[in-house]
Amino acid sequence: MKELTERIKKNGRVLGDGVLKVDEFVTHQVDPVLMEATGQRFAEVFADQNITKVVTIESSGIAPALYAAQALGVPMIFARKSKSLTMDEELLTSSVYSFTKQVTSTISISRKFLSNEDRVLLIDDFLANGQAAKGLIELCRQAGAEVAGIGILIEKSFQDGRQLLEDMDIPVVSLARIASLHDGKVAFLEEDA
Ligand code: 5GP
Repeated sequence: MKELTERIKKNGRVLGDGVLKVDEFVTHQVDPVLMEATGQRFAEVFADQNITKVVTIESSGIAPALYAAQALGVPMIFARKSKSLTMDEELLTSSVYSFTKQVTSTISISRKFLSNEDRVLLIDDFLANGQAAKGLIELCRQAGAEVAGIGILIEKSFQDGRQLLEDMDIPVVSLARIASLHDGKVAFLEEDA
């Protein structure tokens, strides 16, 4: 998606260890116009999939997921990383190893929000090794919901996440695909959505 790749070229900053910082427009300060465009793109791509819920993980997946949900006309659910006192219902839980924080956390969604009648579109800001997506897939499976697709803003194609998800037979659509972050520079793969 041209707007997104252009914005990464302009405002993305490569940190060591294969990490891209996008805090100007996604992970801290958020550009609502760009996020709305990404949400609409996801909605277009998955329009014929009979999606009933959009699911993401807090916090940076929320903005694109909300716009995708709005465009699809369905609710958005974000998995929580820490249990709140107000989450007093039965929970779906799984554990996720965080690539950037290097800690394992338990993520959860109240069981009442997902059921075996749901077809879910998962959305996240980054795809690296696929652990966040795998944790969300696990939550959906616990509810008997089907994951119809995964929409990612920025895929780091030099990491293993896409392969992991394709091996589960789940379609992955990434709006920007990064081939490498060598020498402080972002190199994109040709094909992106
Ligand atoms: P994965 O679970 O696929 O290994 O990593 C995805 C999660 O880690 C995303 O939810 C995102 O928060 C974080 N992440 C992975 N790589 C990067 C990166 O290069 N930059 C930023 N800002 N976050 C990343």
